Amino acid sequence: MDDKKAKVGSKNAEFKDVGPAGTMNGMNRTGRMRNSNKNGVNGAAGKRVSKRDGNHFRGCMVGGAIGDALGMPVEFLRADAIIRKYGPGGIRDLEVSPSGKALITDDTQMTLFTAEGILRANNRALSRGICHFPSIVHGAYLRWLMTQGYPKFEDKWWTYNGWLLSVPELHFRRGPGNTCLSALSSGELGTISSPINNSKGCGGVMRAAPAGLFYPPEAAFMMASEFAAITHGHPSGYLSAGALAYMIAAIIEGQDLRRAAKGAIAELGKHDGHEECVECLQKALDFSRTKQTDLEAIRQIGEGWVGEEALGIAVYCALKHPDDFVGAVVAAVNHDGDSDSTGAITGNILGAYLGLSRIPPAWVDVIELRDVLIQVADDLLVGYRDDEEWGKKYPGC
Ligand SMILES: [Mg+2]
Repeated sequence: MDDKKAKVGSKNAEFKDVGPAGTMNGMNRTGRMRNSNKNGVNGAAGKRVSKRDGNHFRGCMVGGAIGDALGMPVEFLRADAIIRKYGPGGIRDLEVSPSGKALITDDTQMTLFTAEGILRANNRALSRGICHFPSIVHGAYLRWLMTQGYPKFEDKWWTYNGWLLSVPELHFRRGPGNTCLSALSSGELGTISSPINNSKGCGGVMRAAPAGLFYPPEAAFMMASEFAAITHGHPSGYLSAGALAYMIAAIIEGQDLRRAAKGAIAELGKHDGHEECVECLQKALDFSRTKQTDLEAIRQIGEGWVGEEALGIAVYCALKHPDDFVGAVVAAVNHDGDSDSTGAITGNILGAYLGLSRIPPAWVDVIELRDVLIQVADDLLVGYRDDEEWGKKYPGC
């Protein structure tokens, strides 16, 4: 990793644009959005049905966890080794631990903390009228770092609270990424304008989905990119996160998968260093229309250890199996590369698209942290409540 020293607490002016009434450009009182598609109808493009509901929010969060858990046993196996171990179809079912749960990894842990950071930032913006969103999400990642056995930063004592940190099942190390650990343990806040390193590992995109549930597409892109840049300073490390969040936001607005992917490509084009992400997304769009096997297609996109490849593989799997959650996540984990992350991102996308009701109940029943994932999904849907309970659950710091 090529760590550059970032300026501590460097600010991006866009994130200070929070008015006295607690509203940001394009967002309403819940901190969410002014939706151009409130009724789920999109004029010339025909009818679009909004997926802003518990079924699709839960599908995104739980679906990601299931993809993550499905891929975990084969993360470091190449495809031929997976086939030798599991047969010609590869791994096709969740492996359940002696505790009776299918275990999630750092991808799902960090996704939960992204969601928590977003809700806490939203609370701060609405209750205090000003918020630097990445700083609050950085605090959430520092809480995740503490769950990995790292000490608290004593000068940030105020950030070690809220309900998620007290969930015992989160206090396990499940293959945390070195880039996330080193960037966060530096105590510095990476930003797009002051990159903390030159990493484009997939640790930024794998945790970005909640930004897509919470913000409208363009804001989701901006926020998720900046949240990923906290730990990943290469454009493909943070723009891949922006593109994923854009796609999920577009899906929640009611767009189909192909249109959402094309929209993400168009949005990427506005940002410096977008070429690798665009190339991988374009491959996903093109290969999903061919008859080659999933493994052949995925091998031409990459192995998924880096952000743009993880995004491309996941989008390919979703586009190739748009009505089949199981088929998509099975395709997403049976390859040479980073199976839990590509499984998690595919599960996020297709879970948001199909909803929890289209995920096998037998998988939902055994996924670790199911109730926590559902709680967080439901809270993302609510967005904000002006009461004491919410303030304790998601303190604005
Ligand atoms: Mg992982």
